[in-house]
Amino acid sequence: MFQELFEAAIVGGGPAGLSAALTLGRARRSTVIIDHHKPRNKMVRHSHGFLTRDGLSPREFRELAKEELKKYPSVRFINDEIVDVRRNHKIFQVTTKNGVLETKKMLFATGLVDVLPEIDGFDAVYGISAFICPYCDGWEFRDKPIAIIGHQLADFHFVKALYGWSHDVRAFYERQV
Ligand SMILES: Cc1cc2nc3c(=O)[nH]c(=O)nc-3n(C[C@H](O)[C@H](O)[C@H](O)COP(=O)(O)OP(=O)(O)OC[C@H]3O[C@@H](n4cnc5c(N)ncnc54)[C@H](O)[C@@H]3O)c2cc1C
Repeated sequence: MFQELFEAAIVGGGPAGLSAALTLGRARRSTVIIDHHKPRNKMVRHSHGFLTRDGLSPREFRELAKEELKKYPSVRFINDEIVDVRRNHKIFQVTTKNGVLETKKMLFATGLVDVLPEIDGFDAVYGISAFICPYCDGWEFRDKPIAIIGHQLADFHFVKALYGWSHDVRAFYERQV
């Protein structure tokens, strides 16, 4: 593991962490990105709605971003999982599964984890014909039958929003007991 004291350590090498690294690299800050390759959209083939990159796969997006970051020598990558962070006299000690590094600042860009419905077979279609965000994937399914799976009738506004993509929308809600 690196011996130097970094100016910034970024946890997470998704779009958020990589964007932060670009700005820090251009500012000539010694920066390390630690990532264990478990992005939220790992099952997605095509990502949409990001200007100039519409339809690119998330994997390609990350590779292009990493290629761009090679221009900035102060930015380094570690493929590892952070398991602990402690602050000691203004210095953060970051422990990964394979070692320890030190940094003055920490930036958490760890994304989020979706809570998915417990439906048999859902995993097989998630990211292919089942999605979380109509703005990301609604266009590809325009004018086709769409089913919404929700938890409460308060999601009704979602039904109205989806009507813009298709007029054949059916909503399924868990029964509240
Ligand atoms: C089905 C689906 C479709 C989507 N479609 C689109 C779309 O079309 N357009 C769009 O803009 N967005 C889409 N999204 C949302 C997209 O996933 C997010 O916008 C994007 O991934 C957010 O980037 P991020 O950097 O915040 O998080 P992530 O991409 O999730 O990256 C976080 C990273 O942090 C790392 N990490 C977390 N904890 C640790 C740790 N302890 N140690 C080391 N590394 C760690 C993870 O390994 C991961 O690589 C979709 C999501 C899903 C689920």
